[in-house]
Amino acid sequence: MAADRDRTLTSEQDKTPDKISHDDSALFAPVDPFKVGIQGCCPRCGQGKLFDGLLSLKPRCAACDLDYAFADAGDGPAVFVILIVGFIVIGSVLWMQINYAPPIWVYIVLFAPLTIILSLLSLRWCKGILIALQYRNNAAEGRVHRD
Ligand SMILES: [Zn+2]
Repeated sequence: MAADRDRTLTSEQDKTPDKISHDDSALFAPVDPFKVGIQGCCPRCGQGKLFDGLLSLKPRCAACDLDYAFADAGDGPAVFVILIVGFIVIGSVLWMQINYAPPIWVYIVLFAPLTIILSLLSLRWCKGILIALQYRNNAAEGRVHRD
């Protein structure tokens, strides 16, 4: 069963290697996906930059020429950011309300910028980490193979 699946995958890779995987035959020392993700570096070599601006990706790595076309984090980073930043901000708001009960403008002045800054920073980190994990685990959308 597993051999059939491997043979199927291999024959599929022979037909369209770029569409099935990122066709990684280059040898690089493994990098920590969390470290390179937070630094916004290439998931293969850890040297080149992954991002072109705040959240958009460069087309390929300037150091090792890895094509970033495989990278598709989808909605994953947004989900983590909503859950984690939401927990931090709402937890802080509740704690402040229970302990100090300040006027409403204090919440706006404190938590509106905090929410925006935390969201943008952690969105970049999460996207970098998820793309590095996607590269490391060779994750891609499911495919149906028909003979
Ligand atoms: Zn690279």
